Amino acid sequence: MSILKVAKLGQNVLRQTAEQVSEDVLKSEAAQRLIDNMIETMVDYDGVGLAAPQVHEPLSIITVQVEDNARYPEGSEESVPLTVIVNPEITSMSEEKFTDWEACLSLPGLGGLVERSLNVTVKGYDRHYKPLEFEAKGFFARVLQHEIDHLHGKVFIDRMKDMRSLAFTD
Ligand code: ZN
Repeated sequence: MSILKVAKLGQNVLRQTAEQVSEDVLKSEAAQRLIDNMIETMVDYDGVGLAAPQVHEPLSIITVQVEDNARYPEGSEESVPLTVIVNPEITSMSEEKFTDWEACLSLPGLGGLVERSLNVTVKGYDRHYKPLEFEAKGFFARVLQHEIDHLHGKVFIDRMKDMRSLAFTD
């Protein structure tokens, strides 16, 4: 396994729509290696989530894991087991919203307040192409919305209603 290079804002791959992944492609050695490397990269960077375009692969794959995390100390209360979602899609999102800080490995050193839905339902496939669908709330729902945005060429600053909260995190 290896740590992958993370694309930073300004690189085209972050502004493209990711491609859907077919069963054949997902089951290939290359795609499975990519997923292993995405997990390793996410953990190495202390990230809580990673989308394939962030490692220069314009594919619809995200990884999420929330445990003791220095980047989001408040989030560590709500731990999320390692989850890989292929072709994720938000099928419903609550009207109820909440605002909290977000940061992104592709915008190193920056954070800002973003409003997100409190609850979402996500549908997709696991890394073996088994269909999955689940509900998430709170911090987990926030991370999913952030990562799925990456698959549509969006980053968190595009979602900020008031750019005055944009700040260096240190
Ligand atoms: Zn991000």
